[in-house]
Amino acid sequence: MESDTIIAAVDAGGTSFKCALVRRDGDLVATWRIPTTTPEETLTACASAFRRESEARGLHPVALGIASFGPVDIDPTSTSYGTITGTAKPGWHGAPIGPALSEALQIPFHLDTDVNAALIAEMRWGNAQGLKSAAYMTVGTGIGVGLSLDGSLVRHPSHPEFGHIRVARHLTDQDFPGTCALHGDCLEGLASAQAFEARWGDPAQVPNDHPAWDVEAYYLAQACTNIYLLTRLERIIIGGGLLQAKHLYAKIQKQFDLLMGDYLPVKGADLITAPKLGEHAGVLGGAVTALKALS
Ligand code: ZN
Repeated sequence: MESDTIIAAVDAGGTSFKCALVRRDGDLVATWRIPTTTPEETLTACASAFRRESEARGLHPVALGIASFGPVDIDPTSTSYGTITGTAKPGWHGAPIGPALSEALQIPFHLDTDVNAALIAEMRWGNAQGLKSAAYMTVGTGIGVGLSLDGSLVRHPSHPEFGHIRVARHLTDQDFPGTCALHGDCLEGLASAQAFEARWGDPAQVPNDHPAWDVEAYYLAQACTNIYLLTRLERIIIGGGLLQAKHLYAKIQKQFDLLMGDYLPVKGADLITAPKLGEHAGVLGGAVTALKALS
């Protein structure tokens, strides 16, 4: 791999496709956004922007690295690799994000889920740098978890669906039915941003001392104890829209300690952290996905 290797990176999201030209060391040469509309319109606009931005700088990306919303086929041996497989977003079922962009730009693509991508970006350049076992949990409309154990991303035959595990109810939260369309009161049904909003309204408007945050921390701390007890990993990074409430981290860390009850020599404050890469985690993760495949 050349030292000036350039990757065309995409963070394919429901609202916009964030795009970037990324150097091998994580340097973002250029970034821009394309609004997510129809697959054809969005992918065409992405491809022409990549051509324009690369040519303007005399750069030649060697591969595409994509972090995608799901459900998406992430198995490189599958005939539908890089294609959206579910109907979560209207019009996008069967959208060949990877194959279409790859054909338009005439370079190979490498694709992973948005949480897996955020995790490997944090492991290379962020708050899990140098560690071999870490998790990235996103708490937004849904809850998703990416997991890397002993240096390997858990992705074959597929990625974890940890958002749908069962958790014990908080004593003050016995009657809420939960918002998961499939399970009602699974973790996502009780603790996603959507579930939070259904009980207490817009998170940005809920005061820091409102009991809602203790209930939320109780569920997310259970998620962390479950991940930790199963894997004994070194770091759990929690991101996503709901964690814009920064005071929530301390509550989760404290609840984690209470739930663990000194059973093992681990402290919530050492284990559980915010992401470092912020809004660029997705494109950087896409770039790492491609770089790993190239090396
Ligand atoms: Zn569920």
